[in-house]
Amino acid sequence: MVDIKINNFAISRWRAEFVDPAMERAYHLHVEADVAQFLARALKLWALLLTVFAWADWLQLGNSPGFYILSGLRMAHVCLLLCLAFVLPLKPHWATWGWPVTIVAIAGYPLFFAYPYIMPDTGTMGLAIMMMMLLSVYVFVPNRLGLTNLVALIGFAMVILNSIIAGATLSQLILVTIVLAWPVSIGYAAAHRINTGNRKAFRALRLAENTNLELEEEMTRRKTLEVELQRQALTDPLTGLSNRRQYELLFRRELERHRRHGTRLAMGMIDLDHFKRINDEHGHEFGDQVLRTVAETLQEPLRSCDILGRFGGEEFILILPEASLQQGIEVAERMRKALRSAAVIKDGKTIHITATFAITEVCDKDENISDLIRRADEALYQGKRDGRDRVMEAAAA
Ligand code: GH3
Ligand code: MG
Ligand code: MG
Repeated sequence: MVDIKINNFAISRWRAEFVDPAMERAYHLHVEADVAQFLARALKLWALLLTVFAWADWLQLGNSPGFYILSGLRMAHVCLLLCLAFVLPLKPHWATWGWPVTIVAIAGYPLFFAYPYIMPDTGTMGLAIMMMMLLSVYVFVPNRLGLTNLVALIGFAMVILNSIIAGATLSQLILVTIVLAWPVSIGYAAAHRINTGNRKAFRALRLAENTNLELEEEMTRRKTLEVELQRQALTDPLTGLSNRRQYELLFRRELERHRRHGTRLAMGMIDLDHFKRINDEHGHEFGDQVLRTVAETLQEPLRSCDILGRFGGEEFILILPEASLQQGIEVAERMRKALRSAAVIKDGKTIHITATFAITEVCDKDENISDLIRRADEALYQGKRDGRDRVMEAAAA
């Protein structure tokens, strides 16, 4: 949804429309279907009333040319009204556009214009009908206020013209003006109130929608932040691997599963060989880069359920759910080979890195991860002494 600033909601004083054309268009779009439906009903009722009045003509004129002229004009207008009423469901934007109903309303004036000539004794009646019509056009027919004013102005001009042609005196013309000013001003005030009220309701709706949208955005932002914070709290910032808190938690869960269902659980420790040298020769920053590459490489042979965590420094922890000691050794061997063949390039020079692995398996005596770490650490130490770059077996005693 478009973000609408609060000062775009200003409503014009006389037209009772939003000053901002974009806002007025948005309002039209919002009310279009309802206005079209209401207008179609109003036009049908208008056509019905107009048809019923043919009976009054018949009573006065009988089977005369005047009756047929009036009926012809009347039917032509009824047809126009009904045509527009039936087209509106297909073109609902015509309702809010306003011109079609304006033209159809103005097209009805020839009928009023014809009356004084065919029935000269119905002048007062004609004026009363014009008053009713003007009031109805303002209050009952939904249209843009400026266009309704145009309909009223032409109707008013029509009546004045007819009165002049009929030889009305100046005071009679003033009287007619005063009489017609009444429905016009009442109608205008009522329509103004309706149009302004509808736009104020739309404004309130939009403001509520905007607030909701802001709240939703804020909620999404907070959720993203929460996920990010959670991720940060559980991962090692350098390598992106599980940190101690995370892998200890996952280990406890797997240990629970092992105790309850008897599933095997292998665990390992990995220590990079001669890592200090890399730091000393190429700098700490490069050492960091190597640690990142190592973390990526070590993960390659793992299943999605396996857990690789950073124990600290250049040491890593491996948790292999549903894996025996032998299976753990096989996995570690694959990791060792993957690391051996990986390379980090620095200043055109290729640097290879190796690691020593120690694998053990959970046994009944083990109470927590520290018991396994102790066992693996001893084997790791032995592996270093034996020449590094190897996988050591740390069987439970
Ligand atoms: P060994 O084969 O016996 O394990 O030798 P080593 O050099 O790997 O062992 P040692 O434990 O003596 O050295 C580990 C080095 O790892 C020391 C430290 O400078 C480096 N180190 C620890 N953490 C980081 C880190 O986050 N970044 C970098 N670049 N180096 C680290
Ligand atoms: Mg070490
Ligand atoms: Mg080391």
